[in-house]
Formats: sequence, structure tokens, C-alpha cells
Amino acid sequence: MPPVSSRPGGCWGRPDLPAPVGRRTALGLIGGTLAAARAAGTSIALPPLELTASRLSQGGWARGIARGGLVLDLDGMPVPTDSSGRFLIAFDRDAPATARLHGKAANGWETALPLAIAPRAWQIEQIDAPLRPPSLPNEEFLRIRKDELARIAAARALVTGAQGWAQAMIRPAPGRISGRFGAQRVYRGEPGSYHTGLDLAAASGTPILCPADGVVILAAAAPFTLEGKLLMVDHGMGLSSAFLHCSAHRVGLGEAVCQGQAIAEVGMTGRATGPHLHWGLRWREARLDPLLFLPDEG
Ligand SMILES: [Zn+2]
Repeated sequence: MPPVSSRPGGCWGRPDLPAPVGRRTALGLIGGTLAAARAAGTSIALPPLELTASRLSQGGWARGIARGGLVLDLDGMPVPTDSSGRFLIAFDRDAPATARLHGKAANGWETALPLAIAPRAWQIEQIDAPLRPPSLPNEEFLRIRKDELARIAAARALVTGAQGWAQAMIRPAPGRISGRFGAQRVYRGEPGSYHTGLDLAAASGTPILCPADGVVILAAAAPFTLEGKLLMVDHGMGLSSAFLHCSAHRVGLGEAVCQGQAIAEVGMTGRATGPHLHWGLRWREARLDPLLFLPDEG
């Protein structure tokens, strides 16, 4: 696993000064003093709390490091750190414009990073027709669907210790982007549900490559009603991928998988009008834009 990216230049020798203006204004000590940093047990050369890489926008993410044993929360929600203090946070498609990452040391010293989350211009399509009420699903469908959703929820509750969350991701399939994350149709002012993943149009049987290291947390042998042959991979720290509509899986439940490994094949099982990979990414309950995890494309 690559180390957390090193910081260019040694500009943190005076942590009692505000963070330098420019590219790194979001980083560093906010409201801290040298004495406080010392009291928190942190090195005077390094900020107690900083982001090391980020895409601070709706559907985006940030990685960082907390030093001196800081206990973190994001707007009050606990954020775990690994043994080196590294962490991941991410922002839902509809995340508000600001967030606050807060750290507290054992001795009560506190620091915080206010985060500005850039809004996105989601692709919105106005439809001059009423939102069609769904045809009444029959009891059999409801029973099956309830079971499928329970299996997805159970998979997402698994904690695997996977380390892929710290990697830059790779594209899981070639092909044209046939559906963007967040796209939404609005029917005479009434919004329909938005698209929860990235669609990549590729031929049936095209290998799906794992975008980052992980552990398989669900491999549906029988197709789910909507997702089809669904494969889910946990990347650790609350981050997980879902691969929908597969024609086949090449890995099984509990298997550790590596970035670049062929884990499944593109198909059109479940509700799909043509062969494609729908790749969904979530951090806890937040739905994320997979494109923002691809350094070459996002
Ligand atoms: Zn899709």
C-alpha cells in the first residue's frame, strides 16, 4: 500500500501562524497554538489534523491524517482513523455547502477544519409529463425485494479491514459513459429518483476490474430483481463498491480482491436495457460520484 502522500516543502514550522494562503488553505492548524499542539502530543513540524488529498464537492471525498491520537468527527458523526491516524471522509450527492471536521485530544484540546463542499450542477432533464405512479407491485415482488434489500444492508454492515480506501482508483470497465452519477429527471416539477452510479457501456462478457483493493461482501448467485447479478466489494473505512447487471462473477463472498483484478463480467441482468456496468460507490449512507475517484477522469 502506498504511503500517504508526502507534503511538499516544510512549511509547518510555525503552527501558531495561520495556514499559508493558496492551494493549501484548507489544511493545517485552525485556531491552534504551538503550546496547544505540544500539549496534544503532536510534532511541532506537522499539523495535528490535515487533508492529504481531496475532492471537496458533492459526491466527493477527502483523505487525511490526524496526529496525536485525535478522535475525529464529521459534523458530529464519528470518523475512524487507522493505526497511523489516516482517515477517509466523503460527501453525499446532496451534501450541504459546509462541513466541519473536528478533532479532540485525550487532554481535551480541540481543533477543527471547516470544509467548503462545492455544489454540483447535476444533469437535470425536464420531462413534460406527470411522474408515472409505479404500477402496484404484487406481493411476491415485495417479498423478494424485502429480502434483497436486507441482504444488501447486511453486506454493507460487514467490516472487513480492507485497505483500498487509501488508493487512487482505476476504471473498472472500458467504454462510453452512458449514464452519469446524480442525473435526474423532473416530471412537471416533481423530481424522480436520481441515478446512483456511473454507467459504462461495454460488451457483455467484458471483464470488470476491481477499482481498488477490497473484500467481497456480496456475490448474488441468483440475479436480484433490479440490480441483477450484483457484486459488492468493501474497500474499508465505510467505503464500498457495487457492480450491477453482471453476466458472471469471478470471485466469491469473503474473497480478498486486488486493484485491477477481474472480478466479474459486464452483462444486462436485472433492470437494464443493454449491456453495461453500473458502478455505485458509497461511504456509509452517502452516495458518491465514482468519476471523482478516478484521477484521470474526474
Ligand atoms: Zn446505472
